Amino acid sequence: MIIAQLPRLNISIFTKPPLSLRTHFTLFPKQRLLFAPKSTLSTVEPIPISPVSEPETQLSISLEKLFVPPETQVCIDDPTLSTRILKGSNIVLSKYARDAQVVQAEFIKSSVRTEDCPSDGLPEFALVGRSNVGKSSLLNSLVRRKRLALTSKKPGKTQCINHFKINDKWYLVDLPGYGYASAPQELRTDWAKFTKDYFLNRSTLVSVFLLIDASIPSKTIDLEYASWLGQNQIPMTLIFTKCDKRKKKKNGGKRPEENINDFQELIHGFFQTAPPWIMTSSVTNQGRDEILLHMAQLRNYWLKH
Ligand code: GDP
Repeated sequence: MIIAQLPRLNISIFTKPPLSLRTHFTLFPKQRLLFAPKSTLSTVEPIPISPVSEPETQLSISLEKLFVPPETQVCIDDPTLSTRILKGSNIVLSKYARDAQVVQAEFIKSSVRTEDCPSDGLPEFALVGRSNVGKSSLLNSLVRRKRLALTSKKPGKTQCINHFKINDKWYLVDLPGYGYASAPQELRTDWAKFTKDYFLNRSTLVSVFLLIDASIPSKTIDLEYASWLGQNQIPMTLIFTKCDKRKKKKNGGKRPEENINDFQELIHGFFQTAPPWIMTSSVTNQGRDEILLHMAQLRNYWLKH
């Protein structure tokens, strides 16, 4: 289907969706396919457009670029569709989006090999991104603690797989940052090997959350990372950070929305269907609740199958 011919859905990223949903469910096969579901979209009539409050930050998403969780159907003529999309994202909510609150968070352990990671079988989400992308800030914001992520910034821990247990039920995993300009090439390769092994062999990994700085244009290393995940069919969610940095175009610089669009255009060829993405800011807490709801729906589906 030609994307240009699809109707476009204008979503104000300030529109708050209700947490209860009316969805239709169909059977859907196993996990690794989970995040690349076949589209169940029909494309006849345009979707009613939500009122636009801030034209500058309005997003326009074609139906084919939405992330539709498994067992969830989307119909173009559903008038509630725009309210079922998480604010500042392309993610449709499913019936599995529940129990999203973080009540308790504790550091469990640092591991240097995948086989040393916790073995209690709980589902986990791995945060990874270029050094300085805002990973520690996001982790702290997700758990509403100022210093939890400091644990993984301690000397000796930055190259480890750091597990944080949430509500005694699931893990947030802090992986080593990549792309340190000053690191010797040999070390950079080691980090890549180390995290790749984790991605490929960690059976309880529900999704990688790849952090991308939306305040600057795409970096080759981020594109390579995303394409590697796509080619290896590792479930991935893109977390665009620093979306509060909204400087007017200066020296060819672009706004977060433009950088986000550019990034997706560039990785488009590596994915069968559009990966889920969310705009965030650790300064304003934008995207925090959305990330937790998205994690909840992925996790609850994973636990059921
Ligand atoms: P890490 O190296 O990926 O863990 O990055 P940090 O969380 O340490 O953040 C790197 C720098 O970016 C720090 O100066 C943060 O204050 C800043 N930063 C992180 N997140 C945001 C954000 O959402 N908005 C803005 N404006 N700055 C941020």
